[in-house]
Amino acid sequence: MSSKGEHQAIPLSVLLKRELANEKIERPEIFHGQANQSKKGEDFTFLKTECQRVLGDGVTTYSVFGLFDGHNGSAAAIYSKENLLNNVLSAVPPELNQDEWVAALPRALVAGFVKTDKDFQDKAQTSGTTVTFVIIEGWVVTVASVGDSRCILESAEGGIFHLSADHRLECNEEERERITTSGGEVGRLKTGGGTAIGPLRCWPGGLCLSRSIGDMDVGEFIVPVPYVKQVKLSSAGGRIVISSDGVWDALTPEMALECCRGMPPDSAASQIVKEAVQVKGLRDDTTCIVIDLQPPEKTTPPLPPPKKLGKGVFKSMFRKKSPEPSCQIDNEYSEPDVVEELFEEGSAWLSERLDTKYPICNVFKLFMCAVCQVEMKPREGISIHVGSSNSSKLRPWDGPFLCSSCQEKKEAMEGKRPSGGDGSQYSSGSE
Ligand SMILES: [Zn+2]
Repeated sequence: MSSKGEHQAIPLSVLLKRELANEKIERPEIFHGQANQSKKGEDFTFLKTECQRVLGDGVTTYSVFGLFDGHNGSAAAIYSKENLLNNVLSAVPPELNQDEWVAALPRALVAGFVKTDKDFQDKAQTSGTTVTFVIIEGWVVTVASVGDSRCILESAEGGIFHLSADHRLECNEEERERITTSGGEVGRLKTGGGTAIGPLRCWPGGLCLSRSIGDMDVGEFIVPVPYVKQVKLSSAGGRIVISSDGVWDALTPEMALECCRGMPPDSAASQIVKEAVQVKGLRDDTTCIVIDLQPPEKTTPPLPPPKKLGKGVFKSMFRKKSPEPSCQIDNEYSEPDVVEELFEEGSAWLSERLDTKYPICNVFKLFMCAVCQVEMKPREGISIHVGSSNSSKLRPWDGPFLCSSCQEKKEAMEGKRPSGGDGSQYSSGSE
């Protein structure tokens, strides 16, 4: 009864302030660093933090990190570095809220990778590149990859996750099968005496990878369709490591994470590269990007700590898997949160990758090519399902649709058109 006066309405300004504070807590602080030791000069990185996106009711930011490991020259790596993000963003419908935008990314990444590959090949330049492309929006991390540069995540809770696929022919049977079915040949290099040496390669061309951007001089069944994985971290954060094969040929994910534990991202990236080169020597371009997602309370960027203090501080954030007695108290407070998997798909078939359950706004893009976003007249687009096993049941409105040029690209990737040919030997694709 006497407490009446204590429950007065809270002023709006205070509520708004609280709202803002809460909003802030929802987003991680992102710190990153990179390091490189160059042998051929064909590794390139792309780092863009604080990219702004206008929402209906405000502005939000996201960060993008990319690693491009070129082969047979660096043109494809440089072209992808310069154009891929734009091609991905232009495939996201406008005016999406945060959740819709994140949900639209896996499909937009596929369209963006394929468009980048197609546009690059139109320039008739040789060379190819692996791509590992990471988009961070809030606590959601989306990774799209072709080739053998890899991306791993260690959550603050201690779990290690692979966020990319390995598209080396040597270790991917599914991809070997896809290529031979599409008309390519998979085998090792033969010496003069007929002895097979080295890793499995795809012929013609002799590439060891089944997916890449560029590589117009090898078969078109070396596709740019990326493996995509999307996860949501707990608000305790985690560490992401993106490295080219120079690192992963020398270090396991555990070794890479362990050798730089407690270090801020810049020194961590240098340490991983140093460690890899120590093990194998500088045989290849060796590049590493380290990204830390941290709860916003820790707003000061982690400086290289004084030696005696440093390690304990960081252990509580990236604790070792074998718990030490001194960590027990800290661990009691950490929630047993897990990294939540939101999306995973690695199929090489466009009809599966562009035809996902999609926000309603797709309706408005009915007359745009699902890959290159060019506008088409009604009836001009070709359904992405043409040529698939149940295409006889197709209705005229069964999209998504491709322009004729992207349809040609799709058929080439499926082995229905000779690579680089004029299509004269094109078989209708009926079973
Ligand atoms: Zn198109």
